[in-house]
Amino acid sequence: MLVLVINCGSSSVKYQLFDMARQEVLAKGLLEKIGQPGSVLQHERNSEKFSIEKVIANHNEALALILQTLVDSTFGVIKDISEINAVGHRVVHGGEEFVESSLITDHVIDAIERFSDLAPLHNPPNLIGIRAARSVLACVPHVAVFDTAFHQTIPSHAFTYALPYEYYQQFRLRRYGFHGTSHRYVTMMAARMLNRPLDETNVITCHLGNGCSITAVAGGRSIDTSMGFTPLEGVVMGTRCGDIDPAITFFLADKLNASLSDINNIYNKKSGLIGISGVSNDMREVRKAAEAGNVRARLAIEVFAYRVRKYIGAYTAAIGRVHAVVFTGGIGENATFMREMIMTGLKPLGMIIDAAVNAPLRAKAGDVATPDSPTRILVIPTDEEKMIASDTVEVASRAR
Ligand code: AMP
Repeated sequence: MLVLVINCGSSSVKYQLFDMARQEVLAKGLLEKIGQPGSVLQHERNSEKFSIEKVIANHNEALALILQTLVDSTFGVIKDISEINAVGHRVVHGGEEFVESSLITDHVIDAIERFSDLAPLHNPPNLIGIRAARSVLACVPHVAVFDTAFHQTIPSHAFTYALPYEYYQQFRLRRYGFHGTSHRYVTMMAARMLNRPLDETNVITCHLGNGCSITAVAGGRSIDTSMGFTPLEGVVMGTRCGDIDPAITFFLADKLNASLSDINNIYNKKSGLIGISGVSNDMREVRKAAEAGNVRARLAIEVFAYRVRKYIGAYTAAIGRVHAVVFTGGIGENATFMREMIMTGLKPLGMIIDAAVNAPLRAKAGDVATPDSPTRILVIPTDEEKMIASDTVEVASRAR
């Protein structure tokens, strides 16, 4: 069975074509700058990389070029697009309606459109991708895999903001959480590594990339997560501030004579690692600067680590017995110094990192806790596309 996974952004489309029987990625790529000068498709097949430059006016043309590339006699991996059996779509917001991945119908499309209010930057391009893909691959099932779905098991005491309750009733204003596909994937992998049934697995999953979120998982289900109504809440990220005092908004509006949209931009694009360090949103660059003596870069790293450590402490209280802390995402998988900084000091919680095992472990799965650590500390490379592909197979076969 061949499954095409599509992740549509406002000016980009990422894709991967999976052969599910052989558990293999046949091809993958990224088409950027849709509707802008210089649009280019970076396509990869068997580790061979191709760069295809072409003017691409919209997402329909983008999808057409991707499908053309997949069947191309030079770059392609299949003879005809009819070999594709199903399409999985990453969708950011499924509101309260979607607790799991769903076969895309007109009703599902209407719902995703309704939730565009909650994710105005993400759901509209996701929908454009769905419509474009459905029009060119009309005869196969399309499946929506929602970033929010895994967190729909979070209880009301954890998702309710202490705001006037009618805002929840009127606008569904509550904490939703994101990165759900990644947290779910690494939870499943952690259960396997721990040799535990999924419904008896309690973990704290730390997805630390450019965007960062921490999730408390009890019995294989999300019971709390650090991102909230939007991905702005929670730990420090590359360019996002994470948790701050809401009153700062009024203070800055006054001091900078700034509009709400300016402040939104500051919180989302100019804060986090880049905001504190003034160097970069990229952890590698911030670390280089810190090592060269840049005091603000050092501070950014310390604030980042401290905030993650606080969440691990809080989620230990939420879960009770934690079997493992899991690190994933670009920073979680590769920044060994950051894992050590975060975990140092958590020995009283039964989490003891083995510095010698941790230091060389990059970009692959492993257990970096000491043998006597009551809680394991796992590194698990995330694979959201694989999770989307496997959900797509499951939902599509149920629908037959
Ligand atoms: P992601 O969004 O998951 O691709 O992660 C991006 C983040 O991972 C950036 O902050 C990168 O600096 C960071 N990252 C990737 N590789 C490394 C590495 N070897 N050491 C430190 N940070 C890394």
